Amino acid sequence: MTALTIAQALLLSKPLEQISDTPELDLQLLLQGVLDKPRSYLYTWPERELSESQRQQFQDWLQRRQNGEPIAHILGQRDFWTLTLAVNPTTLIPRPDTERLVEVALELLADGPHKVADLGTGTGAIALALSSERPKWQLYATDRVAEAVDLARRNRDQLGLTRVEVFQGSWCQPLIEQGLTSMDMIVSNPPYIDPQDKHLGEGDVRFEPRSALVADNSGMADIEAISEQALACLKPGGWLVFEHGYDQRESVQACLSQRGYSNIKTFVDLGDNDRVSVGQWLPAANAE
Ligand code: GLN
Repeated sequence: MTALTIAQALLLSKPLEQISDTPELDLQLLLQGVLDKPRSYLYTWPERELSESQRQQFQDWLQRRQNGEPIAHILGQRDFWTLTLAVNPTTLIPRPDTERLVEVALELLADGPHKVADLGTGTGAIALALSSERPKWQLYATDRVAEAVDLARRNRDQLGLTRVEVFQGSWCQPLIEQGLTSMDMIVSNPPYIDPQDKHLGEGDVRFEPRSALVADNSGMADIEAISEQALACLKPGGWLVFEHGYDQRESVQACLSQRGYSNIKTFVDLGDNDRVSVGQWLPAANAE
């Protein structure tokens, strides 16, 4: 077999142009994965040849990517915030948009002995990012899916973020069962895509579980369920923080306001889309 240098491998982006918006970046990530080296290595040693087994793995991965499989599934990991997280097809791949939710949550609450829950944690991305920034917070992460709970625990253990507990169960259910009903903040990136949305047939989302993406009632069903349940788990003054679709600001704000939340606000993401909404539970504001 003919040899393949790093420089030559980096030129093979053409076949990826059909399926990816970022063919060059995809190639770099695959090569880094095969070589187990940082990105700088690729440009420091362009003339270095891949070994036989590296070349085979690279070609196998390139083929999988050409078939549409997400880079994060091929590599088994994705960077989120300052962390590298293990990822698998049982849950959502962490996205940059969700880093905005982390920023908003960090702005709402300083470090201190606070209790914070992350509902539908998936890989654990949000809870782990928050814990890495706020070492005094006690984090409680929940997920209905057993495989996601295993994955989040594995990520937690790998990162050594011992103040994150992961429970199996739907949204607030595990918290209620354990009497954990005085959260300072509850955050969630729940499913919020309308089942009719045509993007569900395109790109990486085809490889992610529908249960992590889609919610009834134009994508609002889980946001509504969580808004309701969170009333029983937040302490007075506690915040509820959601990620949602770019066109759901009004629905999410109405959902929060109908349930009596105060100080409702929406924040935009890096693309200037409405992406994160918050509300504060102030029981006194609802007292007659
Ligand atoms: N923002 C994601 C997407 O559009 C959806 C994430 C979610 O449903 N929580 O693919």
